[in-house]
Amino acid sequence: MNRRYMEDRHESMIDIVESRAAFLEATQVITGGVNSPVRAFGAVGGTPLFIASGQGSSVTDIDGNRYLDYVGSWGPLILGHAHPEVVEALRDAAQRGTSFGAPTLLETRLARTVTELVPSVELIRFVNSGTEATMSAVRLARGHTGRACIVKFEGCYHGHGDSFLIAAGSGAATLGIPDSLGVTAAIAADTLIARYNDLDSVHLLFEKHGERVAAIIVEPVAGNMGVVVPSQGFLQGLRRIATKYASLLIFDEVMTGFRVAPGGAQELYGIEPDLSTFGKILGGGLPVGAYGGKRHIMEQVAPLGGVYQAGTLSGNPLAMAAGLATLNCIRRDPGFYPELERKSARLADGLLENCRKAGVGAVVNRVGSMLTLFFTEEKSVTDWKTAKRSNTAAYGRYFHESLQNGIYLAPSQFEAQFVSAAHSDDDIEMAILASAAALKGCF
Ligand SMILES: *Cc1c(COP(=O)(O)O)cnc(C)c1O
Repeated sequence: MNRRYMEDRHESMIDIVESRAAFLEATQVITGGVNSPVRAFGAVGGTPLFIASGQGSSVTDIDGNRYLDYVGSWGPLILGHAHPEVVEALRDAAQRGTSFGAPTLLETRLARTVTELVPSVELIRFVNSGTEATMSAVRLARGHTGRACIVKFEGCYHGHGDSFLIAAGSGAATLGIPDSLGVTAAIAADTLIARYNDLDSVHLLFEKHGERVAAIIVEPVAGNMGVVVPSQGFLQGLRRIATKYASLLIFDEVMTGFRVAPGGAQELYGIEPDLSTFGKILGGGLPVGAYGGKRHIMEQVAPLGGVYQAGTLSGNPLAMAAGLATLNCIRRDPGFYPELERKSARLADGLLENCRKAGVGAVVNRVGSMLTLFFTEEKSVTDWKTAKRSNTAAYGRYFHESLQNGIYLAPSQFEAQFVSAAHSDDDIEMAILASAAALKGCF
């Protein structure tokens, strides 16, 4: 793609006739027309685009419009779309059979790779989604400690398990549903809510309920209220409190794992959690989750221990193959993360500079290749309270203007934007130019 491509895009409103028809048809047979709520564009209005294909840093919709993709399937695609090595690994695995419900070598290989990249993970168990990973990790924490409560943070998202749909981020934040219907009062009562980046709020909970807390679960870099960076000492403080009260510290690295560093946020900040959860990049674009951690804790999972957890398709060969190919690419190239960092920093600077020039109040939060541009008059966005003061109506306009300029962003203010290894310097500059153009139509 080149600059001319973007200029062409400026000239005409994009045509999404096919997507409109497809969405209408989908709504007749799929709840809300989508299989995950944020995909419905509820927070920004309009019709979701139906994607026909993706290649490298771009996606093409079924009307033939091409967009630079800064969603990356919500995090997994750190290599971009249809990376040749991932596709080759999938083809190779598929030819050997897609599922056996019996052990395969690929599982051990991926497990070995994760334990090498993330030293706090001594034993691992693969599941099929991030949601399953966090649900299982919390069950394990409860089984291990014999305690019922968990502490989670306002605005953090850990998938759609009942225990987590209390003050949750991501789609739940977008839709403004603090609690989901169907989550019982008894379950909600076992989830204690603290404020992100506010150790006092955690101390307070522990002073009252410390003896009942099985685990603190946290996104070590929050990504599901938009990106919120852990303040100096916050994660260390959580580690101290958990240890003091003999609770477990669970890092939910479903988004940050293999994203902010090869060893995730725990490597970046030098903290050792008791358990970690993974997903997204770990599956290289296929459905995978995992939880793992210290050996003596993980040994309590069945068949070794009394905490039950199982899965017909867990460790699926296709998913393992895609994950392995992805992690191998990441590992092989010492320039991988520095390059992502350089391009992402340029993007963040460019976006902020645009807002300054346009006189638009904005904060850009970024860790590595995950970032969020908040439209806000706040000086900083450090937790859910400050995040939610953002101008979501302006974001909705910005989102649609961006589409018109050939840039595909998450359809909500409270999500991360991802840069992949497939994004070229030109792609970054194009996103910055498109953003400047989009701002004009929004404020
Ligand atoms: C995406 C995400 C999840 C949920 O993963 P799914 O695969 O969507 O179930 C959990 N935790 C975090 C931090 C996430 O970003």
